Amino acid sequence: MVEPIRRSTRADREKWINEASFNLFKLRSEYVFIDLLTDSGTGAMSDRQWSEMMLGDESYAGASSYFKMKDTIKEILGFEYFLPTHQGRAAENVLFSALVKAGDIVPGNSHFDTTKGHIEFRKARAVDCTIAEAFDTTVYHPFKGNVDLEKLEDVLRSNPKEKIPFIVVTVTCNSSGGQPVSMANLKGIRNLANKYGVKVLIDAARFAENAYFIKTREDGFKDRTIREIVLEMFGTADFMTMSSKKDAIVNMGGFIGMREKEIFDKASVFNIMFEGYITYGGMSGRDMNALSQGLREGTEFDYLETRIKQVAYLGSRLVEFGVPVQQPFGGHAIFVDAKRFLPQLPKEQFHAQTLAVELYLESGVRGVEIGALLADRDPETRENRFPALELLRLTIPRRVYTNNHMDYVATALANVYDRSNSITRGLKIVREAPIMRHFTVDLERV
Ligand SMILES: *Cc1c(COP(=O)(O)O)cnc(C)c1O
Repeated sequence: MVEPIRRSTRADREKWINEASFNLFKLRSEYVFIDLLTDSGTGAMSDRQWSEMMLGDESYAGASSYFKMKDTIKEILGFEYFLPTHQGRAAENVLFSALVKAGDIVPGNSHFDTTKGHIEFRKARAVDCTIAEAFDTTVYHPFKGNVDLEKLEDVLRSNPKEKIPFIVVTVTCNSSGGQPVSMANLKGIRNLANKYGVKVLIDAARFAENAYFIKTREDGFKDRTIREIVLEMFGTADFMTMSSKKDAIVNMGGFIGMREKEIFDKASVFNIMFEGYITYGGMSGRDMNALSQGLREGTEFDYLETRIKQVAYLGSRLVEFGVPVQQPFGGHAIFVDAKRFLPQLPKEQFHAQTLAVELYLESGVRGVEIGALLADRDPETRENRFPALELLRLTIPRRVYTNNHMDYVATALANVYDRSNSITRGLKIVREAPIMRHFTVDLERV
């Protein structure tokens, strides 16, 4: 599928970003030249996926599309039971409704925003146990998504297991920069889970990219196939939630994979209530077909290498220009260190959001803030949370842009970097929602 993109002038963009209250989520897509807001649902489907859509079975119950998806999940991910949902957060909503209660504690590696939202919404608490290296963009570590096993064991030791519904491992870890988790770490987490009698959930949106990094970076996996690595990764988990809009390369969809019938039965009740009957769960038959095909294509080595190397291409262009970025490069995005880019701003003025707005004004490129706006307020004290990193994420859609587009993005950001000293004013909040404020927040220039 080929789509047109549209150029604009700086004067146009000044007007549009003002009307959008300096929130890039509020821009019309036609006001964006190159859209690096997210890789979620923005990929291009293949000829085979489009063909599969013609074969969709739209029966309410027992559709062949459901069984195709069930068989594919069993074969590629190894889960006996599954429930379709309309996207990843819906999978979280259904599974967490069955498992998480007020007062619970959910340790993990930099929980994704919707995951944390669904935990805190239930008056439970997410505890971040990511390794310290993840929060320093200047140090090299091949697996910056790893869980610090000592931190995790502290949490498991100091809380009764009844209060810990599961440990959540996000692969790759979105919030810390699209950084992978090693197989050794996954096994270490499993061992601790066994020792303390708790379950493990894999938040699986980018599981295939994670497998690519295990294959290319971890000792002993060079000669293993992506599919073998994927099965071994999921072998460490009791259940998984999936946003199929990422590594399954579809525009909409999600699911939950489970090993135990008991959990499947519990979650089915909530699936029927929130999503739809258990054989479609908010998805069309045709979309389930495209998803099954996407799981196959998304776990092919050649595809993964092309994609991850394109992301790295953008990263190395930025490094050539001296722009401070998280290293090693992530699987789906380049993360620009906005505090090092704009050190003159106080944290209360939102480094990463300010930089995202400047890049948009410069070039029509839309990135996204992964910083204090996203980190939201502490649910108890209602104080702003200021995370260790303020990042501008440049997220690359799958199979959409060429390296030519990457050159344009890198040059635009280099131009902003060259004049970064002149950026002396950040942003302040005018209006915000009580939870997940970054999507709808209104801002103005300080
Ligand atoms: C996108 C994502 C989700 C949520 O999925 P949606 O499909 O956007 O609802 C959950 N976890 C991770 C790691 C994600 O990247």
